[in-house]
Amino acid sequence: MIPVNSVLQVGQFPDIMQMEIDKRLSATKMPDPKSKPPEGSFTAIITRSNTQIPQGLLEQLPSVGLVATCGVGYDNLPLDYLKASGIKASNTPGVLNDAVCELAIGMLFSLVRRIPEAHAFVQNKAWSKGLFTVTSTLAGKRVGIAGMGRIGQDLAKRLEPFKVKIAYTGPSPKALTYDYYPDLKSLANASDVLILACPATPETDKMVNAEVLDALGSSGYLLNIARGSVVDEGALLVALQQKKIAGAALDVFENEPNPNPGFLILDNVLLTPHIGSATTETRQLMTNLAIDNLEAFYNQQPLLTEVIN
Ligand code: NAP
Repeated sequence: MIPVNSVLQVGQFPDIMQMEIDKRLSATKMPDPKSKPPEGSFTAIITRSNTQIPQGLLEQLPSVGLVATCGVGYDNLPLDYLKASGIKASNTPGVLNDAVCELAIGMLFSLVRRIPEAHAFVQNKAWSKGLFTVTSTLAGKRVGIAGMGRIGQDLAKRLEPFKVKIAYTGPSPKALTYDYYPDLKSLANASDVLILACPATPETDKMVNAEVLDALGSSGYLLNIARGSVVDEGALLVALQQKKIAGAALDVFENEPNPNPGFLILDNVLLTPHIGSATTETRQLMTNLAIDNLEAFYNQQPLLTEVIN
């Protein structure tokens, strides 16, 4: 049982998520995390992974014992402060794999087969004047996955029927049949498609740099469904402009919702507005898992999906 008026809802929530919240609890809304918190004695926060929770906000809410975020990524939480203050945090892993993997596969084919341009080609009646460019087949390609966690492994399974050879990198090898590369550059060198599915951490910050892009090479594609911070966007822009790689599909950016304008004018990129988990079904599941964590907290039960800090 979640006590009335005990939960502060921080950040903007799409209608589909708000409906789920309103069904199960009465939360006080604080759309702007940088504003002054409303009056009340809040003991938990519900938020979204795209919302940055400032340490200063938590300092003004000394009774808060849990921050429940909707999303896997918790890079927008002040982890050091949470840990030092004994505040718990939870996220919503697993329930969004389907939506993120489906988007990743859609983006991959859209990029390699140039589906958005093909659509525009027909729509603009360019077809009557000539043939659309010949593209590339995914089958037979080597796909490298950086971040073989829940999403990475789910994506690998879904890619296998497309007749690709899968390899991966990460902090350590896993009990998987795919080839393991100890570092990103060697994985890029052995890949035609490099997919990013790792978290945003100090270790992954800008780990896709000019050297990695050179290793991927002029026929290589990059797909980023992880976080914008994982890619050195300056280096990626140069690589795309100079055709050092064949193309990139990006769902996430360093500066959301205003990505570097350099990307907007290139014809070898496919851009989506951070919509990996943005389906009705998945957003409902994410919101309910966040609320399940709140319930566990108030019932003094172990959290279902606690963030290990
Ligand atoms: P996960 O299960 O925690 O998997 C993350 C994987 O990344 C783990 O296997 C981890 O290795 C690995 N990793 C950690 N550091 C790495 C490094 N330096 N290089 C390569 N791999 C590294 O998380 P998930 O559920 O798969 O989600 C992954 C990320 O996707 C999230 O953190 C989030 O940022 C992003 N995401 C994006 C969207 C979107 O809308 N585009 C939606 C959901 C999630 P270990 O197993 O050894 O720890």
